[in-house]
Amino acid sequence: MVVPKLTISAVEKHLAALRACNWCPKMHRPVVVGRAVTSRVLLVGQAPGDKEPKLGRPFAWTAGRTLFRWFHAALGWSEDEVRERIYFAAVCRCFPGKRPGGGDRVPAPDEIANCSAWLEREFRLLRPALVLPVGKLAITQFLPPAPLNDTIGRSFQITWRGQAADCIPLPHPSGASPWHRMEPGQTLLHRALALVAAHPAMRNRTHAIELESPRSCANQKVPR
Ligand code: SF4
Repeated sequence: MVVPKLTISAVEKHLAALRACNWCPKMHRPVVVGRAVTSRVLLVGQAPGDKEPKLGRPFAWTAGRTLFRWFHAALGWSEDEVRERIYFAAVCRCFPGKRPGGGDRVPAPDEIANCSAWLEREFRLLRPALVLPVGKLAITQFLPPAPLNDTIGRSFQITWRGQAADCIPLPHPSGASPWHRMEPGQTLLHRALALVAAHPAMRNRTHAIELESPRSCANQKVPR
């Protein structure tokens, strides 16, 4: 199989098209995207909150601070290093707005379906070896619904839209949920982060080898 060439400019082109998306009339623009990185590790959040569109990046506020603290504890990476080494995607890339009773509106099924087309393009482009869904909405895009106690702290082999990858779910770092601050959540989160840190894709995150010698990789199994 010929390994398709992946370049930063291909990812930038994808992100430019994504930023111009206006498929969901009830979603609030602008579209929030992460950095153009050619990582084989794909983090999938739920949807941005109201701060992320202003700050121009996913996980820019309190939940992000917790998420990056987790990565720093498990990997020793700064926030900047995480953003540079992991591609940030999401179930929906636009802020859904507030619910009348408070809190953010949960994206509607048609909005999730719309935005999954962008995620599918990212799977085709990046061919992730490791997928990190963050929070229940993201986890259920890849795994059947199940309690967090049965899901966090485990690695799953998934096939999503025809592409195989390992999947290590993480709980949502929002302060709204106490799950990850109480047992067994604390222990399971620690286990999940240890699985992430030990996954071969974290050491071999980019497509650099394939870019340097795509022909020599044509018959090789991609390192996992
Ligand atoms: S949520 Fe996704 S599909 Fe909907 S408008 Fe935003 S970027 Fe487009």
